[in-house]
Amino acid sequence: MKKILNKGAILLLSGPSGCGKSSLLKNLYKNIDNYYFSISTTTRSPRDGEQHGKEYYFVTKEEFEEDIKKDNFLEWAKVHDNYYGTSLKPIVKALEESKLVIFDIDVQGFKIVKEKLDYLTTSVFITTATLNELESRLINRATDSEETIKVRLENASQELQDLNLYDYLIVNDNLQTASNNLLNIANIAKLKTSTIDIKSFLQIWDRQ
Ligand code: ADP
Ligand code: 5GP
Repeated sequence: MKKILNKGAILLLSGPSGCGKSSLLKNLYKNIDNYYFSISTTTRSPRDGEQHGKEYYFVTKEEFEEDIKKDNFLEWAKVHDNYYGTSLKPIVKALEESKLVIFDIDVQGFKIVKEKLDYLTTSVFITTATLNELESRLINRATDSEETIKVRLENASQELQDLNLYDYLIVNDNLQTASNNLLNIANIAKLKTSTIDIKSFLQIWDRQ
C-alpha cells in the first residue's frame, strides 16, 4: 500500500485467546479519546452476549469468501478453523480522521498489516505469565466448549513463537498494571515520527 495515509496511527494487539485483550481494551477506552476500534468480520458463532456490529460482524463462510473475492479486506486469516478479517474502508476513514485505530488480530494478520502499514503501526503482544494460567482463564470465562478451549490452547504456544516481532510485550498478570502499561503505549503510538506527515508539518512550521 502506498504511503497515502499520513494521518492517524494504529495500535495493534495480538495474543492468545483468553490472555485478557478485551479486558485490557475495556480499561483503555475509559482513558483515551479519538480512537476507533476496528470491528472484525468473522465466521465464528457469537458467544453469549456478543452482538453483531459490536464485537464482530458475524457472517457466513459464503459471505466472507465473497468479501475476499471483492478485495474488501486489509487482511484476513483462518484462525482456529474460522475466518477473521479486517475491512479496509472503515480503517482508511478512521485514519483520515486522525484517529488511533485499534486492532485485536492474530499473528498472521499482524504480519500482513506490518507489511502494508508498518509506518503507522505500534504492535503489542499480550500474554498470561503461563500456559496454565491461560487455561484457567479460558475455563473460568466459560464461553467456549471443552473442544474449542483445547484447540485454542494448542495454538497458543505456536502464537507465542512470534512475540519478538512485536514492538512491546505485556504480561497480563495484574490487570491494573497491565492496563497502565497499555495506556502508556497507546499514548506513545501517536507520537511515532513515521506517522507524521512531514510535508504538512513543515509547511506550518516554516510559516511561523
Ligand atoms: P481475550 O479477549 O484475550 O480472549 P478476555 O479479556 O476475554 O481475553 O479475558 C479472558 C478471561 O480472563 C476473562 O474471564 C477475564 O475476566 C479474565 N482476565 C483478564 N485479565 C485478567 C487478569 N489480569 N487476571 C485474572 N483474570 C483476568
Ligand atoms: P476470538 O474468537 O477469541 O474473538 O478471536 C480469536 C483470534 O482471532 C484472536 O487471536 C483474535 O486476535 C483474532 N482475530 C480477531 N479478529 C481478527 C481479524 O480481523 N483478523 C485476524 N487476522 N485475526 C483476528
